[in-house]
Amino acid sequence: MPANHILGDCHTHLDQYAPAEMPGILERAREAGVGFAVCAGTTLESTRACVELSGRYGPLYAGVGIHPMEAHRLIDEETLEELKRLAMGNSKVVCVSEIGLDFLPTSPDHEVQFQVFREQIRLARHLKLPIIFHSRESHPEVFRILREERAGDVGGAMHYFQSDEATARAAIDCGFYISLARPLLRLPELQEVARSLPLEHIVLETDAAPQPFKKHRSNWTEPRHVTAVAQCLAEVKGITLDEVAAITTRNLTGLLGLEPLARPV
Ligand SMILES: [Zn+2]
Repeated sequence: MPANHILGDCHTHLDQYAPAEMPGILERAREAGVGFAVCAGTTLESTRACVELSGRYGPLYAGVGIHPMEAHRLIDEETLEELKRLAMGNSKVVCVSEIGLDFLPTSPDHEVQFQVFREQIRLARHLKLPIIFHSRESHPEVFRILREERAGDVGGAMHYFQSDEATARAAIDCGFYISLARPLLRLPELQEVARSLPLEHIVLETDAAPQPFKKHRSNWTEPRHVTAVAQCLAEVKGITLDEVAAITTRNLTGLLGLEPLARPV
């Protein structure tokens, strides 16, 4: 029986799955009530793959972007033009993603990351597309750049949120949604933060990508798992799954400029 709600997954890396997997992944998502998912690019090549997937499958949308962990050199005019070309005039390209900063010790040079992030925020503003961003060990710098580049004009979401309430409030103040993923299921302190945030500021995601380090294929994250995140959020807030679905899906379709989705009959 189809689910009685529609959920959206605002951040995945489905282009990393084998193409033959896609029909099954989408069927399992549909059965779980997950109506659409965004595939975020991490390199030019991955962005092209995401755009192609979004052209082939109705429920898939694409983000264009260079991931901070892939920011090995300053972004050049040619790369920006190619990202722009992939996005312009394509209604299935709905955001600039995955962009941001990552300050793990093994991450690329910070100055290079700053330039790549700034230029892609400018691209998003030019394209009038929201930004779904990555931030690891770099929240103050990310918020500073979002403000300096007036990223709030296009808005977006802070992807895979796992921080504290002050950080969530800072992201919301910058004009961004908080995107919750599977860590919500296992982190009591994150559940406390989620409880304190109005549903009107929350969207959901899985960050789905192949996880060969997990023994069982059935445990690899797919968009269908956004239902578990929604269920957990409903329990944390003491509301129904349908309420969580209605508000978070409205948030996400509004953000991405998609048609409001009707419930399946
Ligand atoms: Zn990601």
